[in-house]
Amino acid sequence: MNAKILETENVTVSFDGFKALNQLNFSMDLGELRVVIGPNGAGKTTFLDVITGKVQPTVGRVLFKGKNLRSLPEHQIARLGIGRKFQTPRIYLNLTPRENLEITSNRNKNAFSTLFGRPHAAEKNSIKGLLETIGLSLKADIPSKLLSHGEKQRLEIGMLVAQSPDLLLVDEPVAGLTDEETYNIGELLLALAQSHSILVIEHDMEFVRQIARKVTVLHEGSVLCEGSFEEVQNDSRVIEVYLGKQQD
Ligand code: ADP
Ligand code: MG
Repeated sequence: MNAKILETENVTVSFDGFKALNQLNFSMDLGELRVVIGPNGAGKTTFLDVITGKVQPTVGRVLFKGKNLRSLPEHQIARLGIGRKFQTPRIYLNLTPRENLEITSNRNKNAFSTLFGRPHAAEKNSIKGLLETIGLSLKADIPSKLLSHGEKQRLEIGMLVAQSPDLLLVDEPVAGLTDEETYNIGELLLALAQSHSILVIEHDMEFVRQIARKVTVLHEGSVLCEGSFEEVQNDSRVIEVYLGKQQD
């Protein structure tokens, strides 16, 4: 059996009696790239909130690498190795992409190495590699405010990776992007998936088709079905609650 990076057991989240998550059972293997889809209000964002500790389960538990996350504050869960990318980029616009990546990776070093300013050779190399991975080598030294929306999204994914999390949570990374930028984000996530466990929440079905291995469909706070993109796309329950609506 494969090691699990993430499991939820019977997780229910009630907001004044309304169940945003309803007895949710989910598990994902170490090293997996998983896409979670579902109609608006299905509970996708709440699912990420309950993993990162922003919201506590009313019932049930969340396990990260087998460890129960109950009652841990958000910053401690982040430190255990869960990184989250929010929908809107949170980068320093006046700094260059290279500087943004340097700051993020420095934040994780001990105070001693940060005190002595300049990044070491090894770190410079890893930032150079990361700039290549996110496709920003040629724009590494211009102010980040000059980047396109898609480039900013890629930079922020790079900043997430610079923190070396074991699990990357990515919420709707292609909302508002052009087709070309969407494709680039897809290729970036596929490249990162070779060395990371990644959970992506997404709405855009073309994008899901591009990156999906295993897809989980959420509906009314529970797993409706799971499988390959083709299996999920042809499932009559999914067509009814989700794809059907989109094709109208
Ligand atoms: P999705 O991301 O799939 O669109 P959400 O997880 O944002 O869905 O929301 C699931 C349901 O829970 C929605 O009906 C939403 O209105 C409700 N909900 C989410 N957060 C709260 C909250 N803090 N208080 C009350 N209801 C909430
Ligand atoms: Mg959402």
